[in-house]
Amino acid sequence: MSYRETKSDVILIGAGVMSATLGTLLKELAPDWKVTVFEKLKSAGEESSNEWNNAGTGHAALCELNYTSEKPDGSLDISKAVKVNEHFQLSRQFWSYLVRKKLIENPKEFIMPIPHISMVQGEKNGLFLKKRMEALSDNPLFEGMSFSDDPDVLKEWMPLVMEGREEGDGPVAATKIDTGTDVNFGSLTRKLFTHLENENVAVHYEHSVKDLKKAADGSWKVKVQNINTGETENHSAKFVFIGAGGGSLPLLQKTGIPESRRIGGFPVSGLFLVCNNPEIVEQHHAKVYGKAKVGAPPMSVPHLDTRYIDNKKSLLFGPFAGFSPKFLKTGSYFDLIGSVKPNNLFTMLGAGFKELGLTRYLIQQVMLSNEKRMEELKEFIPNAKSEDWEIIVAGQRVQVIKDTEAGGRGTLQFGTEVVTADDGSVAALLGASPGASTAVHVMLEILEKCFPTEIDGWKTKIKEMVPSYGKLLMSHPSLFKEIQASTARDLQLEESYVPSQEHLA
Ligand SMILES: Cc1cc2nc3c(=O)[nH]c(=O)nc-3n(C[C@H](O)[C@H](O)[C@H](O)COP(=O)(O)OP(=O)(O)OC[C@H]3O[C@@H](n4cnc5c(N)ncnc54)[C@H](O)[C@@H]3O)c2cc1C
Repeated sequence: MSYRETKSDVILIGAGVMSATLGTLLKELAPDWKVTVFEKLKSAGEESSNEWNNAGTGHAALCELNYTSEKPDGSLDISKAVKVNEHFQLSRQFWSYLVRKKLIENPKEFIMPIPHISMVQGEKNGLFLKKRMEALSDNPLFEGMSFSDDPDVLKEWMPLVMEGREEGDGPVAATKIDTGTDVNFGSLTRKLFTHLENENVAVHYEHSVKDLKKAADGSWKVKVQNINTGETENHSAKFVFIGAGGGSLPLLQKTGIPESRRIGGFPVSGLFLVCNNPEIVEQHHAKVYGKAKVGAPPMSVPHLDTRYIDNKKSLLFGPFAGFSPKFLKTGSYFDLIGSVKPNNLFTMLGAGFKELGLTRYLIQQVMLSNEKRMEELKEFIPNAKSEDWEIIVAGQRVQVIKDTEAGGRGTLQFGTEVVTADDGSVAALLGASPGASTAVHVMLEILEKCFPTEIDGWKTKIKEMVPSYGKLLMSHPSLFKEIQASTARDLQLEESYVPSQEHLA
């Protein structure tokens, strides 16, 4: 037993993109605060934030059809798409600030411009897509989106996808917008942790947090195991952020705060197909998102992405969702069962009954043969050959299960959930979508909730880092234009589209 004990102002659990973002924001806002990080793996960004564990889409709802839903009267609800886009703009501004201030370097190593395309097959889906584009076209955030069902235009936009299609395959329609991005969240996370260590943040790798208890003075006692020595260390902080990805739920449960009750987690695993054959890779330059199959959860919308990783282009197709009881890729098969507690038993049972269809779907996905996966790929690339594609295992997502008024007991949530104690001394991030792209928005929300006495004094600095903070860019088109141009310059997204004067009247 070690007697090592440290006191910090802030403890961040987990070295993924979320802790990286919160730590970096805090170091700018309160440079004198002592921030300590514990990560159970050997380095930063190894779980969901790793570049090969997620799809690297800068989610701005430019191509993801699951953010736009059809209302019973046939009109479209675009509110979620607009919200996701607004949130992505905050991340873009913060990354741009960090590059401008030289706190991180070489933005091309973590963000690249890439057209975002939505593609559908069949007349009904084509009409939906056209309607979606019309609904978004009045909004400056989506300016520059074009629609086409002309095979010659579509061949120009996505030659690999159109090659080998027969007339009998049914009509294809697509929208394209050039302001999209591919984000290497692994590289970004590592850059942010390098910066934090330069700012004297103590980052302890191979240190696994085992327990958290509230002390009489309101601070948190955090029990940490040094994985190399097996020794237990005791640390304390006034504020703890549980940014442990899939590992956040068990740690939140250990806090015992009332807000942690009646919450469960539903793990969803994933696989991608990857192509590194340069001849094929060169024929595609876009992220092409399709429509989820009937009965499929929103996170399994199929897409074909150009990825930029370590200065090399590759293609990624998937994800094929599946079921595994682990909460982290490096987790344990007992994670799911271990998360069932007396206070969430009925919530979990409720979800078990309600989500039988989803569980069946995920189990079917796990059982898919390689031939079946290739068949799904061929819906995107008719001429795909299995020898050009290999399977990689993606990160785990733990979807939140909770009781809601609308859905009743044990309702599965597909978004991101922040759970905070009512005194703001601890916050945990659960869920995975829209994920890393909206990290800055989520962390700014945590700052507002957990630091009510400091936040007013921080606002000037926040506005320097994120100029649109507190404003909706869709209602400030000229500010949006300015920000789009300056962030494109700072992040070296020069090929990226800059809005015209049209919306600025
Ligand atoms: C298949 C898939 C595709 C995705 N695609 C996209 C996408 O295209 N765009 C997008 O924006 N987002 C995407 N996401 C979501 C995105 O990857 C996540 O939202 C984001 O990476 C979560 O970051 P995090 O820091 O919360 O978690 P993580 O990156 O998982 O980091 C958590 C860290 O905590 C550590 N940890 C866990 N338990 C403990 C403990 N007890 N003690 C110490 N350390 C601990 C883990 O080792 C890990 O390093 C995708 C996710 C998946 C799984």
